[in-house]
Amino acid sequence: MSGLIHVAYIISALLFILSLAGLSKQETAKLGCTSGIVGMTIALLATFVGVDTVIGWVIIVIAMIVGAAIGLYLAAKVEMTQMPELVAMLHSFVGLAAVLVGFNSFIELMPSSSITVSANASLQEVATILEQAKGAVAGHAELSAAEINIHLVEIFLGVFIGAVTFTGSIVAYGKLNGGFSLAIFKSKPLMLPMRHWLNVAALVVSFALLIVFMITAGNDAVIPLTCLIVMTAIAFLFGIHLVASIGGADMPVVISMLNSYSGWAAAAAGFMLSNDLLIVTGSLVGSSGAILSYIMCKAMNRSFMSVILGGFGNAPAAAADEEQGEYREMKCNDVAELLKNASSVIITPGYGMAVAQAQYPVAEMTAKLRAKGVNVRFGIHPVAGRLPGHMNVLLAEAKVPYDIVLEMDEINDDFSDTDVVLVIGANDTVNPAALENPNSPIAGMPVLEVWKAKNVVVFKRSMNTGYAGVQNPLFFKENTYMCFGDAKKSVDEIVKGLD
Ligand code: NDP
Repeated sequence: MSGLIHVAYIISALLFILSLAGLSKQETAKLGCTSGIVGMTIALLATFVGVDTVIGWVIIVIAMIVGAAIGLYLAAKVEMTQMPELVAMLHSFVGLAAVLVGFNSFIELMPSSSITVSANASLQEVATILEQAKGAVAGHAELSAAEINIHLVEIFLGVFIGAVTFTGSIVAYGKLNGGFSLAIFKSKPLMLPMRHWLNVAALVVSFALLIVFMITAGNDAVIPLTCLIVMTAIAFLFGIHLVASIGGADMPVVISMLNSYSGWAAAAAGFMLSNDLLIVTGSLVGSSGAILSYIMCKAMNRSFMSVILGGFGNAPAAAADEEQGEYREMKCNDVAELLKNASSVIITPGYGMAVAQAQYPVAEMTAKLRAKGVNVRFGIHPVAGRLPGHMNVLLAEAKVPYDIVLEMDEINDDFSDTDVVLVIGANDTVNPAALENPNSPIAGMPVLEVWKAKNVVVFKRSMNTGYAGVQNPLFFKENTYMCFGDAKKSVDEIVKGLD
């Protein structure tokens, strides 16, 4: 049976790799999802079959029913705009699971009885008894002392990574939700005095606890357990501080970083449970999350280390939300006229398109303009919306052809030859201050250079700032027109005006 389970695990692991490969392109994304689902089904069945007690099966079935009910409820209820919060919350569950698995593994490993050594035993005998004591623990008599030591390090690291992931993800959830009044949940970075030293102190104390934990485990239960509990508390606070001190515009990196941490936490749990599939799956998530974080940092021109140490987002937002001059308004029927006379149009969507669910009328407008011979393309900023690939998913959902959806680097040089740019619910990702104002909190972040086009129409409801809380000089440029209102309603009206 164990051979069959291993084969099933290998097949699942291969399907997960295929799934990642499929998800890297829109054309193959559906196949990628299917591979993932089949892989996970095989993994669940193999895990179920691998349990050899009735009570084990009962517990798994109950857990699966509860989990599936919550999952189905959330999947049916969650709005597309709440997906990032949901993902952050799910990361926190992986972290918590790793903490619980770690504590459970340690309790299983603790010496079940005290050690007695006779007074006239030789040094050699004492050493042998201690070695045996390390191995002779509930269910682990087969492990050598070296294996026990490795297992202890796995437990300590697994609990540490899990605890950081758990609280970090909860803070990320709060920051993305935006509805909490606590300072740690604000999009503005939390700037505690000597914050870098606090992080260093947390790491140094945790390392010292690891050493005490390793030395005392095997001979005693109280001291190592205390070390584990104290380290967990420190890691909880470290996770909160790490994410709370990162500012609004850098949140995309935090999300992908927590994604990566949750993978490593799962891999650590896999080591603790000696489950190869969990190790492989966790490593896939961990490394793909790390690659995504790197891509995000590159796209935002940020140093990865600076972001995770909270070094960005702390520049004073000089007059961040003050308006900077006069702006011009344009009504929907005038926008329709402008579009009818254009030969090239670029649409740059942002978070507001997701909130308004405007992708469907946007797709309809695109089809109508293309039918009139207008060259319509989309420019997608890597961090537009609230999730990596958020805009691509929405446009694919509305059946916008893939070949006219271009990445920022592919389209940025074309704005100067474009008649009209429609900025639909985007703000930070089209903010010229990122290039023009070195004191801006988003300084240095590459943006879609929409202001270079002949005419720019911005669809939003007010003059409010975007996620980073920075005012946008684009709105006050001579060639920019504000089309106020809910993006879906505005685009619907324009679609009618195009007839
Ligand atoms: P922004 O968040 O900067 O701005 C969105 C704009 O949409 C707002 O200014 C808002 O203005 C407008 N809006 C909201 N609702 C509507 C509506 N119903 N109709 C019309 N307009 C609406 O969006 P961007 O996509 O440009 O930038 C994304 C930001 O999110 C970046 O700062 C990025 O760093 C951050 N982020 C991105 C993540 C990712 O992975 N992509 C993850 C976490 C954060 P108004 O209220 O006036 O309508």
